[in-house]
Amino acid sequence: MQVITTVREMVDERSKYAGSQRVGFVATMGYLHKGHLSLVRQGRKENEILMVSIFVNPAQFGPHEDLGSYPHDLPHDLHMLEALDVDIVFTPTPEEIYPPGFVTYVEPAGPLATEAEGASRPGHFRGVATVVLKLFQIVQPHQAYFGQKDAQQVAVISRMVTDLNLPVKLRILSTIREADGLAMSSRNAYLDAEERTAAIVLYRALQAGRMAFEAHTEEEPPAVVKAMTGTVLAEPRAHLDYAQVRDPHSFMPLEELRAPALLLIAAKVGPARLIDNFLLRADGSWDTGIHVTEH
Ligand code: AMP
Repeated sequence: MQVITTVREMVDERSKYAGSQRVGFVATMGYLHKGHLSLVRQGRKENEILMVSIFVNPAQFGPHEDLGSYPHDLPHDLHMLEALDVDIVFTPTPEEIYPPGFVTYVEPAGPLATEAEGASRPGHFRGVATVVLKLFQIVQPHQAYFGQKDAQQVAVISRMVTDLNLPVKLRILSTIREADGLAMSSRNAYLDAEERTAAIVLYRALQAGRMAFEAHTEEEPPAVVKAMTGTVLAEPRAHLDYAQVRDPHSFMPLEELRAPALLLIAAKVGPARLIDNFLLRADGSWDTGIHVTEH
């Protein structure tokens, strides 16, 4: 496995691969867990060459967010990626990605970028879209792997790939969960033991929302939101940011309960701001994630 830190070296390395070799790519911010590793495993199966980036992207953090304290353990990350037979790890510095004079950003517009996470984190998706486009340009992957855990990120990147005619196939994989249902996240490292127990409330709220969805009362979407909200309010350590039902592609609020739909939740538990979702696919089946059982 090669570890590359500069854009120049990465572009040089990429140019060595023949057109017939399929290149897969997983973009991460490091502090890897089993959610990231499921993307890496799938990418390994489906490509001749597999590249992974580890880059905590300053452009997607707000001024009062956790950029300065975001967890990191590069030696451990590299050890895990080596064990999964990754070919190249790209770990640029912020100055490599945003050199002096950098002014060009990708700005997703409309509800997709300004509602839900976009409302709570202004400018977040501009930072995400910009870095992902830059990484796609540098790595030039045939296939790129993203987690359904970040449902709005998936929608923004899918839209960008369509809108800008990017020659990459997106592969979206289910959310990997702890045995008790908590979605894996690097930010779970911020939780102490009691907060960790309380954090299950996001998953419970989604389960309650799904039950209300399936019960189909006349109140329709408000009943689902009420079920999710009520569950979170019962946990004093959790502070709800939003509980919503939206279209998974446009991110417009749903007027009526129909498939496809996304149940979305965001809450603060102690110092950690956590997000989670259940996806009701167009065919009526649910993607509620995959529980990890083995440890
Ligand atoms: P991050 O390091 O948080 O930027 O995440 C890198 C990639 O891993 C993104 O595509 C995430 O959606 C994905 N990811 C993060 N957590 C999970 C999870 N629990 N299950 C599946 N994918 C995940």
